[in-house]
Amino acid sequence: MYDILIIGGGPAGLTAAIYGARAGLDVAVLEKTAAGGQITSTHRLENYPGFAEGVAGPEFSQILLEQAQRFGAAYIADEVMDIQLDGSEKQITGKLGTYSAKTVILAMGASPRKLGIPGEKEFTGMGVSYCATCDGAFFKGLRVAVVGGGDTAFEDALYLADLATEVHIIHRRDSFRAQQYLVDKAKKKTNIFFETCKVPLEIRGGFDLESILLRDVNTGEEKELAVEGVFVAVGQQPDTAFLQGKVLLDAAGYIVAGEDTLTDVAGVYAAGDARTKTLRQVVTAAADGAVAATAAYHSL
Ligand SMILES: Cc1cc2nc3c(=O)[nH]c(=O)nc-3n(C[C@H](O)[C@H](O)[C@H](O)COP(=O)(O)OP(=O)(O)OC[C@H]3O[C@@H](n4cnc5c(N)ncnc54)[C@H](O)[C@@H]3O)c2cc1C
Repeated sequence: MYDILIIGGGPAGLTAAIYGARAGLDVAVLEKTAAGGQITSTHRLENYPGFAEGVAGPEFSQILLEQAQRFGAAYIADEVMDIQLDGSEKQITGKLGTYSAKTVILAMGASPRKLGIPGEKEFTGMGVSYCATCDGAFFKGLRVAVVGGGDTAFEDALYLADLATEVHIIHRRDSFRAQQYLVDKAKKKTNIFFETCKVPLEIRGGFDLESILLRDVNTGEEKELAVEGVFVAVGQQPDTAFLQGKVLLDAAGYIVAGEDTLTDVAGVYAAGDARTKTLRQVVTAAADGAVAATAAYHSL
């Protein structure tokens, strides 16, 4: 039985592993895809303290994993499907095995929200992408659309502008949630175009993706925009479906926990993007991981 089982190997989970293992506890991290979480898909992490020149997302992820393992944390590739949190021995069921622990840190982060329009599913991986820095290189010399109006949409558009011939930002409003400096930067690019007050209706094509159909929210007019790629950046949802009824979640599915990372279940902590919070970033995820592991240590 582990002292701490951490679900999710992103910045929150790996930082929790560093703190827990360094405190001499028996710690394991369960991760369903690759260590590092969302940050693995980031071209450059520029706002994490201490990396003055920035660091590539995959490189940062590798550093975190190695640091956790150096202190003795175990890394297990498995996807958690179910969890039993009652009592002092928590049971975790993965696709590949079952695990038990005295305490659990929930650090499953979040995953991209889908548009839910015809053609999205069919062209996913064949023109539709949720990660510009992962897939942008495939669209060199081609035309792409970015759907969204927040920081991620603008970061994606700026990154893609150096690869694609045209980048069309599609947004349902005429103002953006993105930070102003990103909007200003995008407006200075000659190959970034704005399709404001428009919603995507359908992604079209034959074998390859050929266009995206848009509707003007004010006039109802429809327009087919010729693009070879569509990057979706319309927010995220927490990966907490398996926690329904086990831990208190808010209406959007985020685990209800404050800065102390305590959930409504004794011995269960929530860290990073998966919990209710105002700023979802690497620095806050890492901070949560440290707080959660330290709380678990004290409880043990
Ligand atoms: C494109 C992009 C750019 C970004 N740029 C920045 C930036 O410049 N600066 C910054 O500070 N932040 C940035 N962020 C945000 C930052 O990446 C997140 O805030 C941070 O990764 C959250 O860490 P986390 O550990 O809470 O969650 P995540 O990074 O989401 O990690 C959670 C992990 O849990 C795993 N998991 C989920 N469910 C299960 C399960 N059932 N079983 C096992 N494993 C599971 C997932 O596979 C994932 O690896 C960016 C995010 C994206 C998508």
